[in-house]
Amino acid sequence: MQVYLDNNATTPVAKEVCSELLPFLNEQFYNPSSSYRNADPPAKAVARARGVVARFFGGEGVDSKEIIFTSGATESNNSAIFGALKANPGRRHLITSTVEHPAVLEVFKECKRMGAEVTFVPVDHQGNISLKDFVRALRPRETLLVSIMYANNETGVIFPIENLSRLTKETDQGILFHTDATQAVGKLPMNLNGNFKNVDMLSLSGHKIHAPKGVGVLYIRRGSAWRPIQIGGHQEHGRRAGTENVAGIVGLGKAMELLWEEQAGPVLENIRALRDKLECALLERIPYVHINGRDAPRLPNTTNLSCHFIEGEGILYQLDEYGISASSGSACTSGSLDPSHVLKAMDVPFTAIHGSVRFSLSRFTVEEEIDYVINVFPEIVQRLRNISPYWDQEKNIPRQEKVILCSE
Ligand code: PMP
Repeated sequence: MQVYLDNNATTPVAKEVCSELLPFLNEQFYNPSSSYRNADPPAKAVARARGVVARFFGGEGVDSKEIIFTSGATESNNSAIFGALKANPGRRHLITSTVEHPAVLEVFKECKRMGAEVTFVPVDHQGNISLKDFVRALRPRETLLVSIMYANNETGVIFPIENLSRLTKETDQGILFHTDATQAVGKLPMNLNGNFKNVDMLSLSGHKIHAPKGVGVLYIRRGSAWRPIQIGGHQEHGRRAGTENVAGIVGLGKAMELLWEEQAGPVLENIRALRDKLECALLERIPYVHINGRDAPRLPNTTNLSCHFIEGEGILYQLDEYGISASSGSACTSGSLDPSHVLKAMDVPFTAIHGSVRFSLSRFTVEEEIDYVINVFPEIVQRLRNISPYWDQEKNIPRQEKVILCSE
């Protein structure tokens, strides 16, 4: 059996999305900027997708000119942050959190090397951002930009963007607020005229929502002080040069249309029920396991488990042997043996931080897959514990007498 539970890494392209975009790879291949008639259908298709994205974010009130198509969330984040810095030479203070995706965190580190001052706001054991620390970090007339993600890709923990952006604007209307909403799109409400009315910039990625890889969006509110980073062409109203990825954009539009229809439906509740079933069963069957961020508001599709006394990489390897794809959120992505910066920021104890596994579900996940994982996972953990130096195989308990477990 093949079980795919790594949907926060990438998702399969939906059938409807595939059939909508395919013509733009062959018979409608034309460059949308060309002046002849054949170029009309791709140009119109891009315009239509832009309208769909705008509607998704707030209907009539969102202008399609505020939507920039990019190559994905990494580019959107880079462009949002560097573009804000470029347009505001008078302000040099930036704020972010310690648990952002590297596509934000590394950009801020680079800004620091370029002379900006950056405040990294910490999180607590559950992954919640400290509102007190956040407010303390805001500096009227000095802070240029705040960038805080909507939902964490490793733990699924949700940040209160509505509050954070309101507090930012109450401090100083001139501070720009950006959110990386990549993992939250289609799962959490985001209306740029409603709960997100104080958000100036927002990033998302196609391949997390059943559209293809290599396409994303950067929303920039009209009037925001921002300058383009990618220059050398008139495309995207001069804000992102380069021939449009027409097929990708059409696919993204279709994927967002599907999400739009889905929002009213029971899809998310079904995903949550399967995720909860998985968590409950594994907690019941395996000792010394905890769920990172369990008491925080979380995405319905994500669970991040720490299995004490074993290595996440070992677990992933064994899961792979059973045909199960998951992620450990640490060494595999960084190429080093460092534990995840997100779990480190949450102060997950040493015996647990290395044994973390993330399962992320999608609308295509079915109950048989979850049951299969529930069946094989406890065996895998037991097998790895039997060869762990922290585990007493004979007594089947941890070897260390005093083990600090995470506060649950
Ligand atoms: N931000 C977050 C929160 C993500 O989860 C990801 C993808 N892992 C990215 C940014 C980068 O997205 P992309 O692959 O589209 O560049």
